[in-house]
Amino acid sequence: MKRFLASGLALAFAVLVVATFARTPAAQTGAQVLKACEADEQEIEASALPDVVEPAECPVGERRIVDGLVASVVPPAGQTVYAEVLTTSGAQELGVQHLPDGAVELTHVGDESVAEADLEDPAATDLFRAASREGCSDLANTDLDHKVTETLAYGFRVSTTPPSLRRLAAKNAIRRGAANVFETRSNCRLGDHVPVALRYGGRTGAPAQVGDGLCGTNDGRSVVAFGDLESGALAAACTISHGSLGYDEVVAADVKINRADFRWTAAPNARSCRQAYDVEAVITHEWGHVFGLGHVPESGHRDLTMSPIVNGPCQAAERSLGRGDVLGLDGKYP
Ligand SMILES: [Zn+2]
Repeated sequence: MKRFLASGLALAFAVLVVATFARTPAAQTGAQVLKACEADEQEIEASALPDVVEPAECPVGERRIVDGLVASVVPPAGQTVYAEVLTTSGAQELGVQHLPDGAVELTHVGDESVAEADLEDPAATDLFRAASREGCSDLANTDLDHKVTETLAYGFRVSTTPPSLRRLAAKNAIRRGAANVFETRSNCRLGDHVPVALRYGGRTGAPAQVGDGLCGTNDGRSVVAFGDLESGALAAACTISHGSLGYDEVVAADVKINRADFRWTAAPNARSCRQAYDVEAVITHEWGHVFGLGHVPESGHRDLTMSPIVNGPCQAAERSLGRGDVLGLDGKYP
């Protein structure tokens, strides 16, 4: 949750509110270091931390905050990282906001959209599915705290393309995935557009700064690359934004697609497709996060691009947005 939501109020008042309510009693009285943050802990479990961590309670330094498959180092003060890992059975996410006063606020801790119950959707009868396959009757969307406020240029580390995929095909899939979001491409006859774009800036030798689901470092460049991720992770995205009175403004985003554990294709509907995931479908989901869309529950919403489980290999459903995905963008980018 943002602490500077006081839209329309004077900044001075917002600061006063934060100063008054944000400080825990522990911070005012000289906090002890939390057990999870003791000096010999290289990784700090997000679930062991309070939602807001005062610097005295947890000298995070260069250490990483971990929540399942996702992890992030703490960005510079004033910045927020939204880390997401998309797996074949769900997705995991973690928000790490470094407030100007030094405190660190965590969001989405434990949000792992992999509940077994999600897979058994009572509404997903064949009839229901047939009617909603394009997600055109599903209004669900989830708004994250960041948005792209000016056209963001990104590069593709072409040299990382797996040998099974032509480099040109990979590049085009990544570019189309971006356009799917900012041109709000759907099969629902919705004619909306996002007023800012992702601009392809060409090939790059720079790395996508996504470790094993690890976010938080930022060289100022936005890069898409194939590479190695934890097994089970199809792709991971790190979106870095800086604080603002409205939405946080995205300054950089990196996406890594796991070529070590999965096969990839640009032609998922081809007869020859064997257990290969569609680059464009997966990257469309990831660009959706960069533009500030969060996950909707898989249950009842599997045909939206922002549902957390990819519908499978050798299919392209997530390429086209559903109504809820478009509504989410509409609300955010009026
Ligand atoms: Zn996701």
